[in-house]
Amino acid sequence: MATLEALGWNSFFAEQARRFPGLAPARVTVEHKHFYRVVVECGEMRAEVAGRLRHQATGRDGFPAVGDWVLVQPRPLEKRATIHRILDRRSKLSRKAAGLETQEQILVANINTVFLLQSLNRDFNPRRLERYLTMAWDSGANPVVLLTKLDLCRDVRPFLDQVEVVAAGVPVHALSAITGDGLESIDPYLGIGQSVVMLGSSGVGKSTLVNHLAGAHLLEVGEIRYDDDRGRHTTAQRQLILLPRGGIVIDTPGMRELQPWAAGLDGTFADVEDLARECRFRDCKHEAEPGCRVRTALQEGILDAARFHSYRKLGAELKYLERRRDAVAMAQEKEKWKKIHKAYNRMMRERGR
Ligand code: GDP
Ligand code: ZN
Repeated sequence: MATLEALGWNSFFAEQARRFPGLAPARVTVEHKHFYRVVVECGEMRAEVAGRLRHQATGRDGFPAVGDWVLVQPRPLEKRATIHRILDRRSKLSRKAAGLETQEQILVANINTVFLLQSLNRDFNPRRLERYLTMAWDSGANPVVLLTKLDLCRDVRPFLDQVEVVAAGVPVHALSAITGDGLESIDPYLGIGQSVVMLGSSGVGKSTLVNHLAGAHLLEVGEIRYDDDRGRHTTAQRQLILLPRGGIVIDTPGMRELQPWAAGLDGTFADVEDLARECRFRDCKHEAEPGCRVRTALQEGILDAARFHSYRKLGAELKYLERRRDAVAMAQEKEKWKKIHKAYNRMMRERGR
């Protein structure tokens, strides 16, 4: 059985847990609709959220997510546990939840590194990389670009140059999961207790890489069977994989198609923002304003036109999300007051009787 440290437990979490000596630490490995799987020191078990925690939760981020460290009351004989607290998260990768309301959905929590994968053949797309980068920066984890299928590429240099333009200062590694070339470059991110996620389009080589890293343990990490509510066996994908050499790969189903969630543009577009700060007007839209530094940088070729375009596009998308979120918040506030008024009116009526 894995130690808590191998699963990513450290002083940041231990410090928080000290206040609750009666509860045991556990890490969430799978999220189902109505229950979770967690690992505790004595093994893996099924866990449910305590009623009190459920009532206190204001949004979806008040519920556990895969990768979360939680405090549970285990019942080892039944192989069940009740989740009483979610420990503060070190990082979280979120997306806009599906549906009409804009709600934050945490895909994974407490990751150290976000691997952004693009293949060195057809999938390579700097614009898409920018979008993933923005999400990665926003998660609080460190982004690392992995250029896959090195064996299919004659000259990596032009790819590296393009990555450098959109991801200045971010580590970039080219590798092949087939030949093994370059694989050693990702070792430093996979130390004991280090959690990583892999983001990238379908076909880019994520599973191949994970399988390679998992090696002979592959059979253990594949599909395993769980008891569902009615005692039937269901098949579920394990979402947290402990690598034999240390390191933890987290892969949730929701990670496949992502939308940027109110990510700050800072970081990914630091170069554009630096230029924008030199515009004469603080609210410069970089359209026809006099003294616009961004426009001159475009004319001088200092700023890449395609890059500026995606900055604008992403900016517009995020603003749209923000507006929608404000609208949802306003509706919720209205709903709350409606309830208060109703209760008040009822009370007055009852008094009048
Ligand atoms: P995923 O959808 O991101 O998980 O991608 P897969 O791991 O399923 O890989 C998609 C295809 O790319 C498969 O046919 C793999 O065999 C192939 N592939 C993955 N990694 C490499 C690589 O390093 N080199 C080559 N030539 N093919 C690869
Ligand atoms: Zn401007």
